Amino acid sequence: MNIVLLGAPGAGKGTQAQRLVADYGVAHISTGDLLRAAVKGGTELGVKAKKYMDAGELVPDELVIDLVKERLDQDDAKKGFILDGFPRNTTQAVTLDSELAKMERSLDCALLVDVEPAVIVKRLSSRRTCRACGYTGTAADAVCPSCGGEMYQRDDDKPATIQNRLDVYEKSTSPLVEYYRGKGILVSVDGDRPVDEVYADVKEALGL
Ligand code: AMP
Repeated sequence: MNIVLLGAPGAGKGTQAQRLVADYGVAHISTGDLLRAAVKGGTELGVKAKKYMDAGELVPDELVIDLVKERLDQDDAKKGFILDGFPRNTTQAVTLDSELAKMERSLDCALLVDVEPAVIVKRLSSRRTCRACGYTGTAADAVCPSCGGEMYQRDDDKPATIQNRLDVYEKSTSPLVEYYRGKGILVSVDGDRPVDEVYADVKEALGL
């Protein structure tokens, strides 16, 4: 199972990916999580990436592409992977195709989790993330329902940054829907429903 997840920030890609990982044991490769870990660890990449992330802008392609190449080479990703938050633009998508071809691998499908922008703004404003395990919850979760850890609001989930992230999505990332449709591997689910219902559709769309 080699999958790319598409959808606006806050569409529920990470949540659906976590379910697929738990049920099918594939590697979850979230470039947002990898970049946040780099920022937290104070690495050279983290220092370079932070200013773009805080502004809701895309981190430069070369930084993200190297990160993904390294991750795809790890053993757990050889069995299959779910890319979450990558590719974010056409350059990244074309590079991904050519890197996978070098590894004699290819994508099975691109899964779009489709949610209207107005719903996204509401969701992102109330999104809270667990500092310890990365669980995604809401402002109603005082502590993480999964591990009891501290819930916090990501800097880029604050109102000033949300609109910019959506604009970046519309301009740079949404053209990938047509890119993958053109390759005949696009499938889509309505993401504006309860998580379990979306997941049932995800499995059906992926033929699982
Ligand atoms: P996410 O958790 O996927 O919403 O990503 C959070 C932030 O990390 C984004 O707003 C970007 O600044 C950065 N980021 C994540 N993935 C990418 C990517 N594929 N290309 C460029 N920047 C990215």
